[in-house]
Amino acid sequence: MTDSPSPSDPSKSPGKLASWAFRRVLLALGAVALAAGGYALFHRGAPPSPAPKADPVANTPGLPAAGPPGAPGPAQSQAQVPARAPVPPPALPPATIVPPAVEPAPPFKAEELSGFRLKPPEPQTEPDPPASERYELTLRLERGDTVEKMLADIDVPEAERRQIAQKLQGLLGKKRLAIGEAIQLSMQTLPERPDAPRVLSLSVRPQPEREYIITRQDDASYDAEEKVYKVSPRVVRIEGERKGPLMQSGAKAGVPAAAMTEFVRALAFDIDFQREIKEGQRFTVLLEQRVTSDGHVTHPGRLLAGEWRLLKRTVTVIRFRPQGGAEGFFNRQGESVVRSFLRTPMDTSRVTSRFGMREHPILGFSAMHAGVDFAAASGTPILAAGNGKVVMAGPNGGYGNYVKLQHTHDVATAYAHMSRIGPGIKPGAMVRQGQVIGFVGSTGLSTGPHLHYEFLRGGKHVNPLTQKFAMRAMVAGKDAGRFQALARQYVNQMKHAPMAADLKPKPKPTTSAQIVKRDE
Ligand SMILES: [Zn+2]
Repeated sequence: MTDSPSPSDPSKSPGKLASWAFRRVLLALGAVALAAGGYALFHRGAPPSPAPKADPVANTPGLPAAGPPGAPGPAQSQAQVPARAPVPPPALPPATIVPPAVEPAPPFKAEELSGFRLKPPEPQTEPDPPASERYELTLRLERGDTVEKMLADIDVPEAERRQIAQKLQGLLGKKRLAIGEAIQLSMQTLPERPDAPRVLSLSVRPQPEREYIITRQDDASYDAEEKVYKVSPRVVRIEGERKGPLMQSGAKAGVPAAAMTEFVRALAFDIDFQREIKEGQRFTVLLEQRVTSDGHVTHPGRLLAGEWRLLKRTVTVIRFRPQGGAEGFFNRQGESVVRSFLRTPMDTSRVTSRFGMREHPILGFSAMHAGVDFAAASGTPILAAGNGKVVMAGPNGGYGNYVKLQHTHDVATAYAHMSRIGPGIKPGAMVRQGQVIGFVGSTGLSTGPHLHYEFLRGGKHVNPLTQKFAMRAMVAGKDAGRFQALARQYVNQMKHAPMAADLKPKPKPTTSAQIVKRDE
């Protein structure tokens, strides 16, 4: 029976033999002709037959070499038969597939088989235990929502959802989940109860370091667990490029706003933003993040150091705390920037009138310009150039709204033409460097919105733009060695620390339906 089961097309056998003979002739004629002709022939005369050597499987690979046909053993052609058997479905002998004992099966099974063949995947992966479907869901609490209500919305049976809600409440105690909180669910639907999905687990993580998990047990009860993740510091760097406003450039690179503000303020001591900062310049910040043991960032990063690459020089700022002193930023040489003065008392500005003699634009006669004018949009915040005490704050004749700060016994700064004075800025108030003391305006004798800025030493007006090294303190004594080591480390880390963007936690693998996408 197994030997010649190919009654598939007995009529073809003679033709087959004919082509065999024909091929031999061709062979004698020439190799090239053989290659083409023989190949075509083989592809036409398909099914295996008693005719030796007609088996295409055995021949095709070594076609040209197969010239003088070494008598193909019957064993070979036999071996090919069962392998090919399933291919022609119509004449399939039932015995090859179905055990002969089963009586009604053969015709049925064959049809089934050919039917499956037409559909691409999944022939019979899930044989008996009917498919119980598992999937992940992320739901968000809405206003007025409770976890129990939410579970009711997705048809979790009442007894189950009540138990889950109670367990969760037990974990949370008096804490309440915020609106928008993401609830992760792992679900299962049993085929016999497709309308009553079962919760395998529920987890919520109101803070990155704390996760609350409710898990279904084998006995259908629920277990509650609070997971606390260890938080530790991690140093990362971010590279950015100046495109438009500095804060925006920072945000685009992924620098947290607070760190970028500190960076820009620290740079303001050494960089003339108007003249030196150009589009396309690159910067690096080194941040210390706080990260949970599973990679969730709990603090986006405190600025440790930063580097701005100007055209001809690179400005570096290093965070450092001298012994017994306040933490601040220092340049690479260990000069504190904190106690010097802001070069420009605004984040963005443009010098429109310099210190010295000039024709007064309103009064019309030549006079000493005792300060520097910075043009900026009305409402732009004006920053205290250094720590100090407010000695005047209010309207002051041609100066308009005016603030004067005393920084040391002999250094003072003054700010004029404000549209309004900053909150809490009154005579006697202490201000910190960089604090907003007012907003750009055009009050008093002024032709348009600008800041008139004066710098006084020993009561005399001096040019603020030449005062950049005034009052600069150095790290000294025991601090010096410690600072240099730290600065070297930071400068090195600004080149080699892992990039923050490469350390984003991988999202949990979720299977199917996801109602709301996870963020983070
Ligand atoms: Zn002026």
